[in-house]
Amino acid sequence: KLVLVTGAGGFIATHIVKQLQEEGYRVRGTVRSLEDEERIKKLKELCPDAKHELELVEADLTKPESWEPAVKDVKYVIHVASPFPTQTPKEESELIQPAVEGTQAVLKACVAAKSVKRVVLTSSCAAVGWGPGADTTKTFTEEDWMEPEKLNAYGKSKTLAEKAAWDYVKELPDEDKIELAVINPAYVMGPVINGSMSTSSEVVKRLLEREKPFVAKLNFPVVDVRDVAAAHIKAMTLDDAAGKRHLIVNSNVWMKEMATILSKEFKTQGYNVPTANCPGPILWLTSLFDRTIKMVMPDIGKVYKFDNTRMKDVLQITPHEIKDTLIEMAYSLIEAGLIK
Ligand code: NDP
Repeated sequence: KLVLVTGAGGFIATHIVKQLQEEGYRVRGTVRSLEDEERIKKLKELCPDAKHELELVEADLTKPESWEPAVKDVKYVIHVASPFPTQTPKEESELIQPAVEGTQAVLKACVAAKSVKRVVLTSSCAAVGWGPGADTTKTFTEEDWMEPEKLNAYGKSKTLAEKAAWDYVKELPDEDKIELAVINPAYVMGPVINGSMSTSSEVVKRLLEREKPFVAKLNFPVVDVRDVAAAHIKAMTLDDAAGKRHLIVNSNVWMKEMATILSKEFKTQGYNVPTANCPGPILWLTSLFDRTIKMVMPDIGKVYKFDNTRMKDVLQITPHEIKDTLIEMAYSLIEAGLIK
């Protein structure tokens, strides 16, 4: 059984590739470029005992023609690739176009291949109820959708891409039908095994590097990357996952709580992690000249909550302890030389 993982070199995708290989699947991964030899070598070594060596091919969400060869003879596709930059781009279309049109191109190639049974799409809790326009009085479920106009460019790109995927499979004639299952992760943290930075690592990096002498009153619904990877693989084969969305979240954590956990573990190793909440007026002043703080200001003090019943009952995932998730993420960043 051949599985295609798109964007195989990313933070989450490397864990999916590794777990698939550990379970004995044959895995093909896509990357935008095969030129970076060191990166490719690292990917090939994710699971040293793998029965089948990882196959890597080039494909780009902005090049629809690149997907046909990538999906050839594949039974399952796990479509993870999507732009996830640390900062909002000048033009929203820089994110929305590859996310939406890229997803459509992947699905189109899957139908044409005739071998694909199911596609698992990595969406986000942002497509469900996360961000300034979301109702903080409720616990969101898989029934909920964010209105794209209430979201920033990234949230919009994820919501519109997921919608486009559901619409695409719904419209397929019977003879072309493929199954779709969607994974909607919260803020993904945990060990980094691709040796590079991603948006997910930003909070831990900033805390360990003491980028600011304070923490902001921010709350994150967190989940471990290993649980997210396992969820994709379960959603790939379980009958009950087809045609469904799955919120993948452990619990809500304040930035101050994260900082306290990291401070306890790393203080003796020379990391001076800030643990005090920033007073409101100072945060507001800082936001005037700091783009990242400005971006998070609408989320200050807000708690976005998600129901993880399907994750536990249907996908049978028992999430890692948040403390382990955070500490192992920090150690992996330090070991990879990604912390100053
Ligand atoms: P990464 O930035 O590590 O991964 C993003 C991946 O998308 C990379 O492999 C990147 O490829 C690929 N990609 C971006 N643009 C293109 C393109 N034009 N063509 C082909 N590939 C492209 O982030 P994550 O692993 O965290 O994110 C993976 C997925 O999970 C994304 O869909 C993201 O939206 C989603 N997600 C992430 C969450 C999180 O907290 N991390 C939460 C919820 C959802 P390359 O390596 O070549 O740059």
